[in-house]
Parts: sequence; C-alpha cells; structure tokens
Amino acid sequence: DRINIAIDGPAGAGKSTVARLVANELSYIYVDTGSMYRAVTWFMTKLGVGPELQDEVLQHTLNMVLELRPGSDGQKVYVDGEDVTPYIRSTQVNSMVSRYAQIEGLRTHLVHLQRQMALRKGVVMDGRDIGTTVLPDAEVKVFLTASVKERALRRFSELSDADDMSLEQLEKDIAKRDALDEQREISPLRCAEDATILDTTNMNIQQVVTAIVSFCRS
Ligand code: C5P
Repeated sequence: DRINIAIDGPAGAGKSTVARLVANELSYIYVDTGSMYRAVTWFMTKLGVGPELQDEVLQHTLNMVLELRPGSDGQKVYVDGEDVTPYIRSTQVNSMVSRYAQIEGLRTHLVHLQRQMALRKGVVMDGRDIGTTVLPDAEVKVFLTASVKERALRRFSELSDADDMSLEQLEKDIAKRDALDEQREISPLRCAEDATILDTTNMNIQQVVTAIVSFCRS
C-alpha cells in the first residue's frame, strides 16, 4: 500500500535531493513545499509587495495560479503558467522567503494546496512543518539535520548566483533563516514527536536515501 513520507529539517540539510531520490526509488511523487514559498516570494518581489504588507501579499497569493509539475530534471514550479523554477533559488529570494513564510494566511493557503497533493498517498513531501502540521498522519516522518557549516557548503554548490556570495556569508544567512523558521509563531520548524532524526553531517546522500527507504519497508 502506498504511504506518505514527510521530510523536514533546516535549510541545506539535503531534504530536496534526498526526497527526490526516495520518490524515484518508490515511484512516488515528490513535493518540494519550499519551492511554493519561494515562488510566492519571487512573485511578490517582482510586484514590489513587501512582506510587511500582509493583506496585499495574501490577496495576490490567493489570485495567483501556483502549480508544481514534474519535469525531466526534477520538479518545476509555475506561477500563472510561467515556469519560475530558474528564479527561485537566488540570493534575493533566499534572504526574503522566511519573512513571507511568517504570514499566517499565506501559510494556511499553501498548507491547503499541499494537503490536496497528498490525498491519494504515494507522496514524499519536504519542508519545515510537514510532519507536524501539513501531514501529521504521514506513515513515515524523518527530520534531517546537519551542522550549519556542512549545510552552508551544500547550499554553496547549488546556489544559482554563488559567485556573489562568500561561504561565510552563506553560513550567516542560513543561521539567520533557521532562527526565523524556528521562532515564528505559526507552525515553526519543529521535529515531530514521532519523527526519526537523521544527522547527515557525516552521511552521503545514498546512505540517507537507503535509510529512509528502509523505514518505509519496515
Ligand atoms: O526548503 P527551502 O529552503 O527551499 O525553503 C525555503 C523557505 O521556505 C524556508 O526557509 C522557510 O522559510 C519556508 N518554508 C516554510 N515551510 C515549508 C517549506 C519552506 O516555511 N514547509
């Protein structure tokens, strides 16, 4: 029987890479919820609507068509029919996303969309609040972590405009984003009580994937 798998953890813990590979191995659908918060952030920045303008942000979010579609090289995110995947991992979006992600109505809306995607099971969903809020009934819950230094190194290699930024700056940014995600009032970054914690600092990707797939088969 198909199950749902929730993968949570801080920025750069390897959630998206691992979740995508677990989904491949099980022929499940991968849902990257961070890409949804990122797409909203990119769109608001384009419109010039800052995170302090909560009502306006919410209005635009409810009016935009936000879609995740599988692509040949991973999941793609669309806003009003436009593929915005190339824009959502910029330093600009990185630095703003956690501020938009604090807006309650925006979260309620995205959580609703995320639950709909998981209704038929067979979903690997990664984020910050999946095991605690989005899919509290997920059959397998994993909390991935790694040291801040290791996570900064991993992010450095995937950043679309890494040249603009030193590793040291990236480490600071990640620590700041962690703090905002952990301290926000609505569904903060938390390890669910029934999640298995995997510290991946000294694990390679395949070891993490194998561990999670084994949880699913036990
Ligand atoms: O996972 P990723 O680093 O792409 O997420 C970007 C940001 O989106 C996070 O730092 C967090 O502020 C927000 N987010 C969230 N809840 C989720 C997924 C992401 O608040 N489920």
